[in-house]
Amino acid sequence: MSTLLVRNIHTLVTMNAAREELRGAAIFVRDHVIERVGRASDLPQTADTVLDLQDRHIVLPGLVNTHHHFYQTLTRAIPAAQNCDLFGWLKALYPLWARMTPPALAGSAQLCAAELIRSGCTTASDHLYLFPNGATLDDEIRAVGEAGLRFHASRGSMSVGESRGGLPPDSLVEAEEAILRDSRRVIESFHDSSRYSMLRIALAPCSPFSVSRDLMRESAALARSYPGVRLHTHLAESNSDVDYSKATFGLSPGEYAESVGWVGPDVWHAHCVRLDDAAISRFGQSGTGVAHCPCSNLRLASGLAPIRKMRAAGVPVGLGTDGAASNDATNLLHEARQAMLVARVLDQDAAAMTAREALEIATLGGAAVLGRADIGSIAPGMAADFIAISLDRPGWVGAEQDPVAALIFCETNGVDYSFIHGRCVVDRGEITTLELPKLQSEVRRHAIELVRG
Ligand SMILES: [Zn+2]
Repeated sequence: MSTLLVRNIHTLVTMNAAREELRGAAIFVRDHVIERVGRASDLPQTADTVLDLQDRHIVLPGLVNTHHHFYQTLTRAIPAAQNCDLFGWLKALYPLWARMTPPALAGSAQLCAAELIRSGCTTASDHLYLFPNGATLDDEIRAVGEAGLRFHASRGSMSVGESRGGLPPDSLVEAEEAILRDSRRVIESFHDSSRYSMLRIALAPCSPFSVSRDLMRESAALARSYPGVRLHTHLAESNSDVDYSKATFGLSPGEYAESVGWVGPDVWHAHCVRLDDAAISRFGQSGTGVAHCPCSNLRLASGLAPIRKMRAAGVPVGLGTDGAASNDATNLLHEARQAMLVARVLDQDAAAMTAREALEIATLGGAAVLGRADIGSIAPGMAADFIAISLDRPGWVGAEQDPVAALIFCETNGVDYSFIHGRCVVDRGEITTLELPKLQSEVRRHAIELVRG
């Protein structure tokens, strides 16, 4: 048993049911769970570890990333893929990704986890859908575990290559029987459905243009035979994606998802930029979640997802940075800012999304999309996942009237402190779990090898 007291918090953004923001607050943690929250004078005055924030920090729940491809850290800003739309971008990068080795996968995933943690993320889902040269999901799980991130690993897959009308090269696809066998293996080896779990598995056939309808159906049946194994894929990302669904299946993306059983409270889809009104209403009614990835959607010119409309229809919406090769910044706080900006321009309404709503989507929204009732807010009984950001930064001067809004409106590069599962993973701006310079040079070496071939 160990205890932690974080005191003299300038403003504590709780994201509790009343959305309280407390001044002069404190948090008391026992092991990995928040035990008490409130005014410093009402809480224990000491603990095994005490962090005094000296009335100069905002504390908020750790941010939740609901869609990423960590391995793409190896292929950021590749010249041949800088100015392509989704399909062109994928075709430019598939040959590079096919050369990825298990150590390159592990290193890139660990570096990406570190970047996410520094940007305020405490829980992330990653969608890994290609396994070249003997790589396995295990390589990534081990690497991310060392970084200390709460992790939802998606066992992705691709089974329809170019020769069968799909987009990826045949060399990158797997046999469906092997995919299902390995999916079962990783669930049974790693999935922990308990409250405060640090590791869960999802099944994630990649996209309509890279897997068969059979694999979608069978993956869903397999996931649903275990408690808390969710389903994830890409859907309605761009006009070409919609055209592919119509030409190949004779269905819109929403109809396609429905036809393979991919609608329900245990399913979340990435992007949904081109989801039609009927599908939005069906997603809302069924509790089907969406991972909103505004930077990637802008970068690939895919469009602006109608998030305000989705939330009004009751669709659970979380944020995703998307892969490190289509963003190409892995910064979840920046993604929340981008979400607010694109919601405004899409509706041509400056009140379409507030800074606080962007923060809510980044925390509670992500938690709902990943099916977690134990993260996303700071309240007794919740996991001890929270971040602290100093008010003393040049970009916040002049924003003293509303520092909570400044988190989104102003420039915030990274957090000063982060606690995940009660463990301090960022201390005075530095990640504590990894030797970052060493990891950077190792991953840089892998990236250069990948391009050199
Ligand atoms: Zn993606």
